Parts: sequence; C-alpha cells; structure tokens
Amino acid sequence: MAATLVPYHDRDGFIWFDGKLVPWREANLHILTHGLHYASAVFEGERAYGGQIFKLHEHSQRLIDSARMLDFEIPYTIEEIDAACNEAMKANKLVDCYVRPIAWRGSEQMGVSAQLNKIHLAVAAWDWGSYFDPQERLRGIRIGLAQYRRPDPATIPAKAKATGLYMICTIEKHRAEKAGYADALMYDWRGRVAECTGANIFFVKDGALHTPTPDCFLDGITRRTVIDLAKRRGIAVHERTIMPEELPSFTECFIVGTAAEVTPVREIGPHNYQPGRVSEQLLNDYMAAVQPAKNAAE
Ligand code: PMP
Repeated sequence: MAATLVPYHDRDGFIWFDGKLVPWREANLHILTHGLHYASAVFEGERAYGGQIFKLHEHSQRLIDSARMLDFEIPYTIEEIDAACNEAMKANKLVDCYVRPIAWRGSEQMGVSAQLNKIHLAVAAWDWGSYFDPQERLRGIRIGLAQYRRPDPATIPAKAKATGLYMICTIEKHRAEKAGYADALMYDWRGRVAECTGANIFFVKDGALHTPTPDCFLDGITRRTVIDLAKRRGIAVHERTIMPEELPSFTECFIVGTAAEVTPVREIGPHNYQPGRVSEQLLNDYMAAVQPAKNAAE
C-alpha cells in the first residue's frame, strides 16, 4: 500500500515569504511567475541539528552567488537571509529539520526577458528524516547509471544551485527508481564520473579517498566538510578525474549531501562495493561534526 502523502501545499505552520511569516497554506504564487516558466530560480537545501542550521552562512552565500550567476540580485543581505532561515525553523517549532530557501523572478513581465521582474525570497522548514530508507542506508544503497550527463559549463551556469539544472536530475532519479535503484550516478559531458542527482560521490581504494574534481557540478558543502574530516583523520584525499572504467577498482563508495548526509553505496549498476571502515568512520565523523556544540566551534 502506498504511504499516505501529506502534500507540501497543505500543511500547518508558517513560511517566511518576502520578509514576513505567512500561514503555510497561503504561501502561494501567480501562475505567470517567470521562475516557473523559465527556471529563473535558485535554492538551497540546509539541515538543522539541535536547533542550529549546519553551515548556514555558507548556504546563504551560495544562494546569493547562484542568483548572481542567473543575473539577479536577492534583495536581502546575507545576514537577513540567515535570519530568515532561523525564523522559518523557529516559527514551526523545529529543531532537527530541513530548511529550503528559494529565490525567483516574479510576474511583472512575461517572456524570456525579465528585466523588471521583482525578485522574491521564501524559506520553508520541515521535518525531513533520512533521505534514503534508513535500513538501506546502513547496508549501502544501490544506484544505477544515468543517461543524461552533467552539462558543459559553457552551456549553462553549471555551478549554480539553480532549478533548471534539476530537470535532468528528476528524469534520472525516476529512471533509477523505476529500475529498483535509490539514485543514479551521472557522468559529465566528457564522460567522466561526476555526481548523483542530488549528492556528490566518493570512492575508497587502498585506504585513500578519491572524488571527482567539481569543475562542472556543485562543489557541495558536505563534500568539502567530508574532505576536511578525512584529512583530520590522516586519510589521503585525491580530487581528480575519475573515468567509468575505474569503477570496478574501488572497494568502498559513499555519497554525500546536505539531505543525503553520508550514505554508503553497495552497488553502482554492475559494480559492487562493501560499505567498510572508511565510509563508517566518515559517516560517524560527519554526524558528530553537524552537532551544535561542534558546529558552534567551526
Ligand atoms: N550535487 C547536487 C546536484 C545537489 O543537489 C547537492 C545537494 N545540494 C549536492 C551535490 C551536495 O551539496 P551540499 O553538500 O552542499 O548539500
């Protein structure tokens, strides 16, 4: 039986919308919103642990930077964006939650040009447990191979966390789920190993970490955190080009992201991995690092 869905538009609580908290069900837009028609929208995905949003300031900075890559300026300072995220969390009495800021072009002009459109910002927060089935997650998830590739940065602002870049991610996530996988590994436009549909990827070989150089996809905040944690443990980290032919040579694999946290992988298509010592160590280190006491010391 399908799990009961509680639609995101029909919930109790408050959403921070253009400077004030509005009742959840009233946080609506007009149909002729530029962001909907032309993907002129950027967003963030943050997690709070014990009432503190992990690396909030970095997320707010990335939101501002993503908007600039799409040629718009969010009409709030970084401090105001930080405060809006905290307000959205607190208004819903949440302490362990997911936080989603989104900025977009409004509906003053319709058509590709949107010079006069107002820029909006909203922040929602909700309780979001494990991104993957918690049982699966510890055993390692199974991921398939995507058909679409991460695009050439000469074709799109590939480093922005922009809605348009997720069109192919949703297609690939659906394709993977239909084939019984939890996610899909995407190659980049040159055929190199890149990332999953919403997370970065790491491999382990001879006790060292190997991860693709993020030259055409998001250099995730979790990715950078995990690299720091590994270095502190004395684990060598190799950021480099990884070709699909190398996939069978790794022993462990895990994916990382704000929503996914650190999730071991046991299969990528025909290749098998054994979630092991290095994945477990970094999963534990990451879960310790996000706790408020450590977080405050950053
Ligand atoms: N790649 C993609 C495509 C993502 O959506 C995410 C999640 N934001 C990541 C990587 C990981 O980024 P972060 O660790 O900053 O959440």
